[in-house]
Amino acid sequence: MVDASQQLVIITGSSSGIGASAAREFAAAGFPLLLLARRVERSEALSLPNAMCLAVDVTDRAAVAGAVEAAVEKYGKPDLLVNNAGIMPLGVLEEQNPAEWQQLFDVNCVSLLNVSQIVGRHMLDQGHGTIVNIGSIAGKNVYANHMAYCGTKFAVHAITEQMRREFAGRNIRVCLVAPGMVETELLDSTTNEEIKGGYLAYKASVGGAIDPVHIARSMLTMYRMPQDVCVRELVIAPTRQEG
Ligand code: NDP
Repeated sequence: MVDASQQLVIITGSSSGIGASAAREFAAAGFPLLLLARRVERSEALSLPNAMCLAVDVTDRAAVAGAVEAAVEKYGKPDLLVNNAGIMPLGVLEEQNPAEWQQLFDVNCVSLLNVSQIVGRHMLDQGHGTIVNIGSIAGKNVYANHMAYCGTKFAVHAITEQMRREFAGRNIRVCLVAPGMVETELLDSTTNEEIKGGYLAYKASVGGAIDPVHIARSMLTMYRMPQDVCVRELVIAPTRQEG
């Protein structure tokens, strides 16, 4: 069994929500961290020990590669990557700004592939590692106003499964975490106020979203399983959320 207890953990989208919670939980468990987000001041405000916080847009492959190299130089090779950065501009085909579709796929899918390749190569070199991709229940079901977002998350689920198969024989675990409603800033990227209102009303009707700390702790538990045990998929949502 590989003892990875002190190896580098890389989290994208660390400045709020699930990523910030994950950063706190993994720091508390003693891992050195590379935290990537555009709002670096928010990552820094977490005040975590052994955390390199860098202002990186995950759609900028060269910036991601530079950040990973800097962290590897300081902390050594990574053993865990959490592909968490994401946006959710909701809308309908008839009205939504096409620029939002491009941004959705660039951030939620293409960047995930880029970061996985850059970090995955280090894991392949050392012969072990874990990649956790954050999908969604919107990667399993479709929802009104979520068409393009669902498209990105269905893609993340497919990508994750094939990434797992590609890396399985090389001793790298690839895991999917598919949350339901989590209390974060994700809805802020939706500009349509009517759609936002509907989302918030549904959230209230199920008693609210769950705290991101539960996603973070679940990921820590999955990661702490022995290297030869891969939790392939975790779906975690509010109890009262039906769909
Ligand atoms: P938040 O909006 O709170 O966090 C999103 C994070 O992604 C932020 O840290 C943001 O940082 C980062 N991010 C967005 N765009 C970029 C970019 N171009 N480059 C770097 N970082 C970026 O939302 P959540 O915590 O909810 O979202 C995390 C993940 O969880 C997403 O993939 C989302 O789809 C998924 N998810 C969330 C659910 C929910 O109900 N909240 C349900 C299911 C899945 P910054 O803006 O500083 O760059």
